[in-house]
Amino acid sequence: MSEPLLFHSTRGAGSATLEQAISAGLAPDGGLYVPEALPRLSIDAFADAGTLAEVAAVLLQPFFAGSSLAGALPAICAESLSFDTPLKPLGQRANAYVLELFHGPTAAFKDVGARFLAACLARQLRGESSQPLLTILVATSGDTGAAVAAALHQQPGIQVVILYPDGRVSPRQAHQLGCFGDNVQALRVDGTFDDCQRMVKAMLGDTELQAQRPLSSANSISLGRLLPQMSYYAQASLAIWRTHGTEANFIVPTGNLGNALACVWAREMGLPIGSIHLACNANTTLPDYFAGADYAAHRTIATLANAMDVGAPSNFERLRWTFPYDNELRGQLTASSVNDATIRETITRHAKAHDNVFCPHTATAMHVLDNLPDDGLPRVVTATAHPAKFETVLEPLLGFSPDVPGPLAAMLYRSASAEAIAADESALKEWLLRETVELSRA
Ligand SMILES: *Cc1c(COP(=O)(O)O)cnc(C)c1O
Repeated sequence: MSEPLLFHSTRGAGSATLEQAISAGLAPDGGLYVPEALPRLSIDAFADAGTLAEVAAVLLQPFFAGSSLAGALPAICAESLSFDTPLKPLGQRANAYVLELFHGPTAAFKDVGARFLAACLARQLRGESSQPLLTILVATSGDTGAAVAAALHQQPGIQVVILYPDGRVSPRQAHQLGCFGDNVQALRVDGTFDDCQRMVKAMLGDTELQAQRPLSSANSISLGRLLPQMSYYAQASLAIWRTHGTEANFIVPTGNLGNALACVWAREMGLPIGSIHLACNANTTLPDYFAGADYAAHRTIATLANAMDVGAPSNFERLRWTFPYDNELRGQLTASSVNDATIRETITRHAKAHDNVFCPHTATAMHVLDNLPDDGLPRVVTATAHPAKFETVLEPLLGFSPDVPGPLAAMLYRSASAEAIAADESALKEWLLRETVELSRA
């Protein structure tokens, strides 16, 4: 049997096992966990894999081999990746497809990573019944929080605390975040997503706090979310390889860079993926870097594609680890910025001309596709959320609201609440310590 793969931090600290990397979220030095090296697989390895869960089990096996979760991997995949991620032809353009990632319980692609991580954590905790309550902190730009909450709601031994930027998520996203109750609490932060992310990272790095209250995170910085996201890129690229005999070229709506990084890693692992384009909103940190500027995080700008309102994309550290030299990295990806006016125009045009309704995030990628020459290359736009989550954007443009998928409708029917908190690390720490006292009394 081969040695298990080890994981180390993008900032140098090593070496963690898969189990440690998954349960810790962030590495002890504040970096993000990466494998020692990305495994490579041949396309033939996927000959018998059809469903998303089957593809994931083959793809992730080298990461799990030798770990205590290895035997459970097929079951983890089957139970967490149990919804469709269909690749649909776009119709109006030859060889163009939409990869719909919003058929999970909370109607955004975040369900893939959140459910997979939850299935791993649940198994790890089951093995350690005497452990104290584990608190999962989640900073969300809108969709992650609900996906993690849905995946961990009423899970014994786990508490979920969601931080979201107050007033910067769509009303339906806010409702989803606050509707769970039980072991899930929502905090609305008087700040931006980057503030939420900074607060979570500060708590994870606070050993004094951790001694009183074991913490983990479920952000896209968590390896347990990033790894399964490679699966839909693998499945889609294999389908295109089988029909067209060529590589698939992806356009990915991008914010914190978790989704697109999964596509990059899938390509590094040997899947038939050609070009990868990052479609960003008016937050230009990544487009500026890929245009040749030194990497510099920007202040976050609020846009219609709010789940991509990120000025300091966390996963850039992992991208840098993958391609350490700027010249090399800039050759791997392209990126562009799409403003709100163009998002509105793209949504309206596709709805009117083609009867296709896209969410504002997906619209950024659709705009990029619309502006590419019609060269017949297979191209895939990643559709990251169901348009019904953003009816306050779509309704004024289209004059109607998209139909709400069943699970989302059920969440909107429940009541919702969230507690206000300042965009400040010490406020969050105090809140968590106060909560700990109350939990121990309960
Ligand atoms: C999170 C999210 C994105 C951005 O994904 P990243 O992994 O942060 O780049 C895009 N669209 C939607 C709908 C999202 O929820």
